[in-house]
Amino acid sequence: MNLKSLIRDIPDFPKPGILFRDITTLLRDPEGLRYTIDIFTQKCIEAEIKADYIVGMESRGFIFASLLAYKLGSGFIPVRKRGKLPAAVHSIEYELEYGMDCLEVHQDALHPGSRILIVDDLIATGGTAKATAKLVQNIGCELVGFGFIIELRDLQGRKHLPDVPIISLIEY
Ligand code: 5GP
Repeated sequence: MNLKSLIRDIPDFPKPGILFRDITTLLRDPEGLRYTIDIFTQKCIEAEIKADYIVGMESRGFIFASLLAYKLGSGFIPVRKRGKLPAAVHSIEYELEYGMDCLEVHQDALHPGSRILIVDDLIATGGTAKATAKLVQNIGCELVGFGFIIELRDLQGRKHLPDVPIISLIEY
């Protein structure tokens, strides 16, 4: 199946000059969605990634991370923007192109030694994935891999990530 054909390109979103890769067209396609998750699962098994928890980033990461968690028999843990999670949190600040952002995870969701696979819909510069990796590693978790549906190769985001298996299904 040609997964790329299910991704819609939106020019000038969210700002002029950005070509946004829209995954909602893939999500609404029953066969495309099933195929995506089946291939994702297979690649994790081939890479011998065994995770106790799949950590997914707000908000498109939640969709793929939870489907993958179901298939792999792992738990799902959300990482959210500042102020969204209700219980006590660990936080990490990270640099954006302009300014700073913050990601949070519940303090009681992760423990030292938990094996973690980080999943998001797309990796661009790698800043979001790198910050999430730091967040879970600061807690003492064992990072076992990263998974993305889309990788923007030109931006070389994977260069900034720790040395663990990195899976991506569609490349631009
Ligand atoms: P990075 O931190 O790697 O530069 O950016 C990745 C984050 O931004 C991901 O959480 C991803 O959801 C979002 N993102 C950036 N550009 C796009 C895009 O073109 N399409 C989608 N679906 N997400 C994007």
